[in-house]
Order: sequence, then C-alpha cells, then structure tokens
Amino acid sequence: MSTEEYDDAPLDVAVVGGSLAGCATAIHFGTMGYRVAVFEKKATPDAYHKQLCTHFVQPHTVPLLAPLGLAHLREPSRSVATKAVFVTPGGVVETPGTGYDPELPDSYALNLERRVLDPAIRESARRHGVRFVEATAVEGLARDDSGWTLETRGESGDPRRYRARLVVAADGRRSRLAGLLGNEAESRPNERAALFGYFRGIPAPADNRSVFVMNDRDLACSYPLVDGRTELVLFAEKSRVEGWRGADGRMQEFLKYFDGLPDAPPVTDAVPEGPLLGYGDYPSLIRRPVAGSVPFVGDAALSLDAMSGVGCGFALLSAQLLAHAFAGRALDAEGVRDGLDDYRQRFEKTVLPHAEGICGDSLVDKDEATRQRMFETICGNPELSQKYLALTGRMVLPAEFQRAFMRGLMARGSGAARK
Ligand SMILES: Cc1cc2nc3c(=O)[nH]c(=O)nc-3n(C[C@H](O)[C@H](O)[C@H](O)COP(=O)(O)OP(=O)(O)OC[C@H]3O[C@@H](n4cnc5c(N)ncnc54)[C@H](O)[C@@H]3O)c2cc1C
Repeated sequence: MSTEEYDDAPLDVAVVGGSLAGCATAIHFGTMGYRVAVFEKKATPDAYHKQLCTHFVQPHTVPLLAPLGLAHLREPSRSVATKAVFVTPGGVVETPGTGYDPELPDSYALNLERRVLDPAIRESARRHGVRFVEATAVEGLARDDSGWTLETRGESGDPRRYRARLVVAADGRRSRLAGLLGNEAESRPNERAALFGYFRGIPAPADNRSVFVMNDRDLACSYPLVDGRTELVLFAEKSRVEGWRGADGRMQEFLKYFDGLPDAPPVTDAVPEGPLLGYGDYPSLIRRPVAGSVPFVGDAALSLDAMSGVGCGFALLSAQLLAHAFAGRALDAEGVRDGLDDYRQRFEKTVLPHAEGICGDSLVDKDEATRQRMFETICGNPELSQKYLALTGRMVLPAEFQRAFMRGLMARGSGAARK
C-alpha cells in the first residue's frame, strides 16, 4: 500500500484512548523521542474530565507524577496530601506521621480531583509534542509486516486511516481494541454498589486524613478536598442502597448513614454541592496485558473494584512499565516483540499480584469472626499496621504483607502462650 492512502505521515506510536493511561503512555514515548499520537473518541474541551472517579491517588503513584511533568499537582492549591486511617471491626489501623513509610514523610497519598488531573495530563502530553486527535474513535485495526493501519471515524462521520509502528490500547474497561483483538476479559463479581457526592460544612480530620470506616459489610469513606470541601463515598451491599429512591430520598439516606458512623467526620452541617453519583454494578475485569502484538494499559488491561482505589495509579504505573520495557529498543519487529514480552513480565510481576486480594474483598459474605481476629492482630502490632497501610497504598505486594501477617500471628500466639 502506498502512503497516499493514509491521512497523515506514519506514526511511531498510536495510543488509543486519551485519559490517564493513554496520556501517560504518550508522554513517556514522546519523551523517548518518538512521534506519538493519541486518539480519543470524545471531544475534550479544556475542562473535560472523568466524572466517575473518587480521586484517591495511592502513595505508590505520587512519585510517578514528576516524570509526566505533573509534579506541580502536589501543591496544596491543587490536591490534598493525605493518609488513610481504617476503622475496622478489630480496631483502628493508623500509623504516626504523614508518610505511609515512617522513614519518608512525603510518602503520602493525594486527594487529586480529576477536574485538575485530566486537563493537566492532556496539557502535559501536548507539551511533550504528542499529537492529540480528539473526537476520533478507532474502529478497526489491521496489521502487516511493517506495522498497523488504524481505521478511525471523527465527529463528522468521515473515516480516516493512519499508519503506526506500535499501537497501544488505553481505551478503558470496555476496550474496543480488546474486542477487535480477541482479548476477552475475565469478569469477577463485585457485590457492592457505590454512591458518592461532594459536600461543604464537614470539618477535615487532623492532618487531612482520609477516613475509611468498615461498617457491617460496607466501606464508608471520607476524603478532604481542596477549598475545604469533602467527598463522601459509600461502597455498600447492593440490597442496602437499592431501596434509596429518588434524588432527595437517596441523599437523605446517604447522609443519615454517615451520621450514624463511629469515628467518621461529623456530617450534621454537610451541604451537598450536587446530586450523588455512583454505580449499581461494577465487576472487576481482567485481560491479558498483551494481545495480538498490542500492549494494554490502564483499565483496558485491569479494571478492578473501585473500592480499592487503584485504577488511576495502575493506569500511570502500567504506562511507565510499558515505557521502561521499550526503552533503548528500536520499533522494528524484534524490538517490538522483545518490548512486549518485557512489558508482559513487568505487568505480571508488579500489577497483577494485587488483583486476587482486591477481587476477594469485592465479596461481602466473609466470616466476620475471622475478619475481626485479622484486624485485631493488625491493630495490635505497629509494624503490621504499617505494612497493612503500605499494602492498601500498593507500596508492597500482597505476599510481603502476608509474610508480615504470619510473623504477627506467631508473635501474638507466643505472647498469649506466655501469659
Ligand atoms: C466510581 C469510581 C470511583 C473510582 N475511584 C477511584 C479512586 O479513588 N482512585 C483510583 O485510583 N481509581 C479510581 N477509579 C478508577 C479510575 O477512574 C480508572 O481506573 C481510571 O480512570 C482508568 O484510566 P484509563 O485511562 O485506563 O481509562 P479511562 O479513563 O476509562 O479512559 C479510556 C479512554 O479511552 C477512550 N476510548 C474508548 N474507546 C475508544 C476508541 N475506540 N477510540 C478512541 N478512544 C477511545 C474513552 O473515551 C476514554 O477517554 C474509580 C472508578 C469508578 C467507576
């Protein structure tokens, strides 16, 4: 095929999807000197941002911001530096200091709203020389010996074709590319619904802690935001919220729920900024990180129960793993093959191990007595409390926490035996 049949000069990397994973991938490959374009099916005016997100950016993600040109998002005018406190059936999991790692005071999480993050990452992508092809959906893909042809359709309905040496799927949990390439998702049940909203009049806890209350089989979260606002989020058994009908009735029941919680910030003077948002069903979806010579990043690869608060971080992390896997390689057949293999291994080692525990937590029917004993062990042991927080912040792998937990159990057992 001659190049005249295409609508543009050939690209090195075509990234499909212009949200967090897509923009992060594009910035990394742009930084490496490649000619990169992002294809985003929606129109993205400057203020455009994702609505269905609760903005908790885990501590492992925060160091990933600077290489993306986003270090300024840590400033207090743009986000709130925070650390989780868990109120559990076995006590309160809390550690001293501002950092998740006691040695590192700035190893904190961020409440970084998508209205800030999304425009900033798109702007950074443009600053890094990435071409942003918005309001353009990728609808088809074909591969030959020298790369890919992408079939796209813009708002006007006109089809356009582009050439690229590498295509990256960053097109979210309903990934069209996964459908085209036969990368079927393994779906894991999520037995909770989610409701969330933004409020004024709720005092921020000391040190701007984000408070997570495990109540019955639900998780009620409160996140301090910039400008003295607070976000309240409830992940609840579906049957509990199904009966909360009508916008006003739902808001009343929602606030009544938070009002009755122990250790949560008081909501007596809470004033909603708008209606509640949320979902009724949100199964976790797990796909292969590489399919048909296309790497999958972000939700396109792994979209887990939002209660875990890992999606934004894993979007940025998978983009970084992909870039590291391709660093120093040519985008010829051998370089792409080796880069993809390297990415798959990095993803399977770094990201995937978190999925099993998160999917387990999505089920509500747990043995409460065992759960209570587990949290009593964690709360009674400062080292274990720190490891638990580090696990929820995805700073350590589940296996490291499990080893520490077994040591904690043995120490507790031998302590009890001595008494
Ligand atoms: C209620 C809720 C709360 C959440 N809270 C948190 C939280 O507190 N912390 C956290 O870390 N994560 C959270 N998440 C998860 C987080 O929002 C996602 O994991 C994250 O946005 C994934 O980013 P992404 O770039 O991979 O995918 P997406 O943000 O889904 O972006 C995919 C993009 O691809 C585009 N696209 C799709 N198909 C095509 C196509 N054919 N051609 C071109 N473009 C296409 C879409 O328009 C979209 O812009 C939450 C999710 C939900 C639902």
